[in-house]
Amino acid sequence: MIHSIAFSLLLAIHFMTPFTERELEIIHNGDAQTPFRVLQTTDPVDSLMLRMQSNDIDTDSIAHNASLQLLIERLKTTMEVAGGVGIAAPQAGILKNVFLFTRIDHPEKDVCVAINPRIIDHPVNKICFERDGCLSIPDTGGNSLRFPWVEVEYWDEKGQHHRERLEGYSRKEDFTAVIFQHEYDHLQGILFIDKLCPAQ
Ligand SMILES: [Zn+2]
Repeated sequence: MIHSIAFSLLLAIHFMTPFTERELEIIHNGDAQTPFRVLQTTDPVDSLMLRMQSNDIDTDSIAHNASLQLLIERLKTTMEVAGGVGIAAPQAGILKNVFLFTRIDHPEKDVCVAINPRIIDHPVNKICFERDGCLSIPDTGGNSLRFPWVEVEYWDEKGQHHRERLEGYSRKEDFTAVIFQHEYDHLQGILFIDKLCPAQ
């Protein structure tokens, strides 16, 4: 009992840290149109970085944080160039809780930015999502276990707070809820290959 309380307290702690010198160097080594190099699991150093835990960002100064804004712009460029539907900051070597996810459910919103995201509710059972893939794992696809919906909260790039329920787990129609879960996992150092459906 005491152990489980201590454990849940531990899970609830989120560390907020400023960008490190190395992170600022990466962010500012190109302009908004310059894609980042996407870390690859096939590279030994990259693969360690992809397994690390990211930290929260100070939400008071989101709109005025020039380095954060450039990071977001460059992540957008990187995602477009790579042809992905989502990308997380650690995939560029920036260990901060920031990712982009494509709004298949709301095409007019296009790509959304999630800063300090949380998954606050989900159903008990998972589904098997077909053909997950990752910009950091070359030439590999697989079916992954995902929640069919998630209740989430996050801040956007303007510093506005959002809380909403994301649905959509069909590869053929809408899989916005799965994109959010995939990118959220990157912030914990988790990859889709950790969540493969049991072989049938
Ligand atoms: Zn990925």
